[in-house]
Amino acid sequence: MKKNLAILGSTGSIGVTALDVVSQNSNDFNITALSAGSNYKLLAEQANKFKPAILCIGSEDLKKELEPLLNYKADIKTGLEGLKTLIKNSEAALVLNAIVGAAGLLPTVTTLECGKDLALANKESLVVGGQLVKDLAAKNNARIIPVDSEHNAIFQCLKGNQNRCVKQIVLTGSGGPLLNYPLDKFKDVTPTQALNHPTWGMGRKISIDSATMVNKGLEIIEAKWLFDIDVAIIDVVIHPQSIVHGMVEFMDGSYLCMLGPRSMSIPIIYSLYYPEYANSAPTDSLQSCRGLNLEFQEPELKRFPALKLAREVAKTLGTAPAVFNASNEVAVDAFLDGKIRFDQIVEVVTKTLDQHKVIVKLDLDVLLEADAWARLESKKMCERR
Ligand code: NAD
Ligand code: MG
Repeated sequence: MKKNLAILGSTGSIGVTALDVVSQNSNDFNITALSAGSNYKLLAEQANKFKPAILCIGSEDLKKELEPLLNYKADIKTGLEGLKTLIKNSEAALVLNAIVGAAGLLPTVTTLECGKDLALANKESLVVGGQLVKDLAAKNNARIIPVDSEHNAIFQCLKGNQNRCVKQIVLTGSGGPLLNYPLDKFKDVTPTQALNHPTWGMGRKISIDSATMVNKGLEIIEAKWLFDIDVAIIDVVIHPQSIVHGMVEFMDGSYLCMLGPRSMSIPIIYSLYYPEYANSAPTDSLQSCRGLNLEFQEPELKRFPALKLAREVAKTLGTAPAVFNASNEVAVDAFLDGKIRFDQIVEVVTKTLDQHKVIVKLDLDVLLEADAWARLESKKMCERR
């Protein structure tokens, strides 16, 4: 029987790769809903191919552009409320959340409230929502299957090892385009340089996050919640080849690691089929392990101050991760718009966190308020520079 699947953020890098996977395995999946922020042209193309009953786009104006491009009758929703209705009404058993940023939080919440399984690419919703998101999944008996490659790798390593004590979890990171760039030139790094990731082709926001390694910082917090572990046992290593995606060391001295090509198709396939397995490989497989050269290095904290900052945030918790994330989103946009320098991204996040009074008792409203506050403060800071 085909699995019913909804994809949120289908026009982005993850969304497009996921639809490629579905195309190559059309006997196994049925697309029931697709959503996009603003790219109505690509959404129309995707919809005409996969014919989902429900669509969602960012606004009423965009809906007017989308509707005439469709070659079938679809129920088109708009905005955040539309997205929530899409999740509720769609017949999907599995929702892939491939939206970028904290905008993915409420869709994550709605998916879990509906008791639907969640293939989670949108790491920000777990960073911001943390315990709340985990509690909702448990309460509604819904599974969270990590799509982020490192977490997907660790998820695979932990499978079948529930009774084994974990000593540490290792997140690998390529180090991004600035791994060997002279530190004294960080002030002059341009968006083009920072977007030029050496091993992964991704959306703009996560590409900049990889250059600052804020991405790995977000992933420390993501791993903490996903695997219910102390941040003290989450290690980060630089692995420029991006072949080993994650490792787990157990108390008995064994390491398990997951290797694979640098392709998001692999964790996407794993997540879409879970708890079953695909029996066809994507086009880009590793072919052979011969000639593989695997290096692991200590990350330089002076080069990547976001790593230290993220660890502090992960220890503080409360509203701190929401502020860390929101401030970073604003700073990344400001950098891409030419308003601040590359080295000011993490500076803005640090200063915003310094000004924040952490609230420990959380509910969704408190988190959304902290997010909004951080955006406002960070925006003011970026305008002043
Ligand atoms: P992207 O920018 O390429 O795509 C984002 C998608 O979200 C688009 O479809 C866009 O229309 C939609 N969107 C944006 N803002 C929205 C809003 N306010 N409301 C509704 N929809 C909105 O991003 P991406 O690189 O595909 O990343 C998506 C998520 O997956 C991010 O959380 C990222 O951290 C995570 N992730 C991505 C990769 C990768 O290889 N790209 C790897 C690991 C994790
Ligand atoms: Mg990752």
